[in-house]
Amino acid sequence: MITFNNAAEIVLSNSLKSEGEFVPLSEALGRVLAQPVYADRDMPPFDKSAVDGYACKAADIVGELKLLENIAAGFKPGKTVTAGCCSKIMTGAMLPEGADTIIMVEECEDSGTSVRFNGKSLKSNICYKGEDIREGDKVLETGTFIKPEQIAILASFGVTNVFVAKQKKIGILSTGDEIVEPDAIPTLVQIRNSNGWQLRAQALRAGAIVNYYGIASDSESSLREKLGKALNDNDIVILSGGVSMGDFDFVPAVLDEFGLKTLFNKVAVQPGKPSTFAVKYSQDGSAKKVVFALPGNPVSCFVQFELLIKPFLFKSMGGEAPGLKADLPFKSDYSRKHTERLALIPVKIDSDGSFSPVKYNGSAHITALNGANGIAEIPLGVGNFAAGEKVKVYILP
Ligand code: AMP
Ligand code: MG
Repeated sequence: MITFNNAAEIVLSNSLKSEGEFVPLSEALGRVLAQPVYADRDMPPFDKSAVDGYACKAADIVGELKLLENIAAGFKPGKTVTAGCCSKIMTGAMLPEGADTIIMVEECEDSGTSVRFNGKSLKSNICYKGEDIREGDKVLETGTFIKPEQIAILASFGVTNVFVAKQKKIGILSTGDEIVEPDAIPTLVQIRNSNGWQLRAQALRAGAIVNYYGIASDSESSLREKLGKALNDNDIVILSGGVSMGDFDFVPAVLDEFGLKTLFNKVAVQPGKPSTFAVKYSQDGSAKKVVFALPGNPVSCFVQFELLIKPFLFKSMGGEAPGLKADLPFKSDYSRKHTERLALIPVKIDSDGSFSPVKYNGSAHITALNGANGIAEIPLGVGNFAAGEKVKVYILP
């Protein structure tokens, strides 16, 4: 059985090829940049006032300053500020020639024709041309995940057509004779399909195009038919259920039939031990399509998507999955009996930065995740932790 880290390495080393496309700025949110962005101008583009105030010479502020003009943002100053004079200036307006300081309106008395500074300390209140960014500077790297902050940068430098990685297509297929869709009234022995919907939502949130294939029954023919369709239409297929050692777990055999090479089917992780990863290679030896077959329990599916599939998806778009793993301390002592697998447990991170495991009965316990905001990685081989000891915690988006 391979370790989870090893599984992650295998997955990442089989990432798909990334292709680029242009999208309008209005559709760039959540995409991955496929080329760098350079500043087309200095920022600020001119010496700019940071406040509403009066532009003057610092040496003059002890006396009364004669008012020359009112400079609004978006207009060029008309007059040079000479000794004993000032011009009223709005935030974002251009500094007039001759001025080296802007005194704030809040610290001035304005008679209408002259101004007197009655403040205590003097600051320049000027943002100088190019102090933030120089024309030609690289402002965004290839592979950057585009959030609202990056939208502002793209907009500032006039990038209205953004070259981003094409979205990957992900097909979602649930398996199991006991599984029915959420709108059905289940019989006593049936379970509503939570995985399919959860995985669909996770894939959408990660910026993929999602195709949904419903539920395959536990028969080779049903699986063959639905998996065939999903493989045909998508770059990535995520299956849930049917990979365990049960009598009706046909996934491994059917993956073979489609010419997929299974690179692992057992990982020393809990939950998610039977997680399976299979690749269809192109002629040139690169990965063309992949299948992640996950065990059926919803918490397994959730954590395996977040920690295994999402990094793969972003790498396949030339980027890195957003999100943070931090070394955080246990709030209280913690111990576990079995240590032969890495445990991924839902936890609640407090505002003081420490975390506590949430009540969690196992990987079918879907409501456990509702109260969690992190997944702690309890390392293999270690059973006991004292309060304050740190482990890696993945902070849930
Ligand atoms: P399996 O991996 O097929 O052996 O399934 C493991 C457990 O997960 C079983 O209790 C299944 O009923 C449950 N399960 C499988 N698929 C789903 C699903 N789509 N939604 C919710 N639970 C599921
Ligand atoms: Mg099953």
